[in-house]
Amino acid sequence: MSPDRHVVAVFGGACAGSTAADILGAHGVDVVVFEQNARPYGKIEDGLPRWHRDQRRMEYRRIDARLSRPGVHLVPNTRLGTDLQFTDVVHWGWSAVLLANGAWRDRPLDLPGAERWVGRGLVYQNPFIYWFNHAPEASYRGPRFEVPPGAICIGGGLASIDVVKVFQLELYGRVLRDRGIEVSMYDLEHAGIPATCRAHGIEDPHQLGVADSWLVYRRRVEDMPLAQAPPGATPEQVAKTEFVRRKMLAKAQEKYLFHMRPQAIPLSLLIEADHVAGVRFMETQLQGGRLVEQPDHTFELRSPLVVSAIGSLPEPIPGIVMKGTFYDYADWDTGAYAPVSGVFGVGNVVTGRGNIKASEHHSKDVAAYLVEHYLGVQGEEAPRTVEGLFDQASARGEAAAAHVVTYLSEHPPLPAAQAESLLARVRARQQSVGYQDYASWMTRVTPPDAE
Ligand SMILES: Cc1cc2nc3c(=O)[nH]c(=O)nc-3n(C[C@H](O)[C@H](O)[C@H](O)COP(=O)(O)OP(=O)(O)OC[C@H]3O[C@@H](n4cnc5c(N)ncnc54)[C@H](O)[C@@H]3O)c2cc1C
Repeated sequence: MSPDRHVVAVFGGACAGSTAADILGAHGVDVVVFEQNARPYGKIEDGLPRWHRDQRRMEYRRIDARLSRPGVHLVPNTRLGTDLQFTDVVHWGWSAVLLANGAWRDRPLDLPGAERWVGRGLVYQNPFIYWFNHAPEASYRGPRFEVPPGAICIGGGLASIDVVKVFQLELYGRVLRDRGIEVSMYDLEHAGIPATCRAHGIEDPHQLGVADSWLVYRRRVEDMPLAQAPPGATPEQVAKTEFVRRKMLAKAQEKYLFHMRPQAIPLSLLIEADHVAGVRFMETQLQGGRLVEQPDHTFELRSPLVVSAIGSLPEPIPGIVMKGTFYDYADWDTGAYAPVSGVFGVGNVVTGRGNIKASEHHSKDVAAYLVEHYLGVQGEEAPRTVEGLFDQASARGEAAAAHVVTYLSEHPPLPAAQAESLLARVRARQQSVGYQDYASWMTRVTPPDAE
């Protein structure tokens, strides 16, 4: 029989989960990675818009390498909260349990009755980008969206800029096709709309008559969370960050032509014929850093598609205790979950977002540089590598793994029989989902037309 050893369960197999699994595996720990989807690529596959083609492929390969390491056992198609219950699985006898399940719940739009209109003109950012990424696959069966003229996005962070870019790429791609000009989404995104039009003899894209889409943000352009000042920033650093934000937005608008309306919050959805027809907004002002509503200044934007991109949060899972919108952590740095010792959050699940913060590896300028590349506002010639953005999730996975390694070193390994019995349960589940080994599973579940 094999020796006594640690066996750790990880829920979520993407950036953070696979990194932690890889490191624990390298320490001789058996790691069981439960992943809700068939493919373990998380936000990289479903949240990072598919025009980041090379970046996605590279990240896929990195995740593949981590999850195919000996000692790492993937259990796909197994969702915590549905196929396994937290209050049960946490007591199976693991050495430790890691929650690496990301942030997939859209922050709800705080408008009276808004939830009634979801799917009838109101769409959240996560399913919208999921559609954009997967709709070209023949096997896609989810909801389909048609981007109408003047579509509206409520937000202000990177994800909201992704959404308006999708709007514009869809609108201009369609109008160019209607004129017999075939341009791939990749080329349009890469070169930008005005340059693509010029290359096809259209000097002014406005002559195409597209009603450009809208991004509406509650604060000023200078406040958009696109670049972050370092903690304790000097007034000069704050001013520079604000300048970078303005510049990034201006470049994105220059390349993709969307309208931006800062300093406005949604008041109510406009409804016509049982469908969203637009949004009524109220202007805001900033007074001493505080947002002050201007009830006498309202306006309407009309469109049958409104995408809310105001943040992603960890999903509530039955049995996991929440503190507000997050899980109940005793320590935000280690991700230690307060109610049960030996349970740790890792990656986006901890804060709900990967906040680009100044760190040893990612100074403010590096972060701004990465985001500019992420947004594709660096000009046509610049290389499109946004690797560092995802390195942050991996870095958090590494940091969490280090805490778990310390935790494990303070606890005796599981007796061999207990480790074996855990792995027997794992094998049974793998068998029931039809999983044998990583390479053949991935070949089987990857759609032939997946990008
Ligand atoms: C628009 C955008 C902006 C970004 N901004 C930043 C940024 O500012 N800073 C930064 O560091 N990174 C950013 N990123 C990069 C990226 O989102 C994350 O850093 C990284 O992908 C998070 O990895 P994760 O493993 O924590 O979460 P995810 O990639 O979300 O992986 C979670 C995994 O858990 C699985 N899962 C979920 N629920 C369950 C369950 N109940 N049971 C089992 N499995 C489950 C999911 O299927 C998924 O595979 C951004 C990405 C995008 C698309």
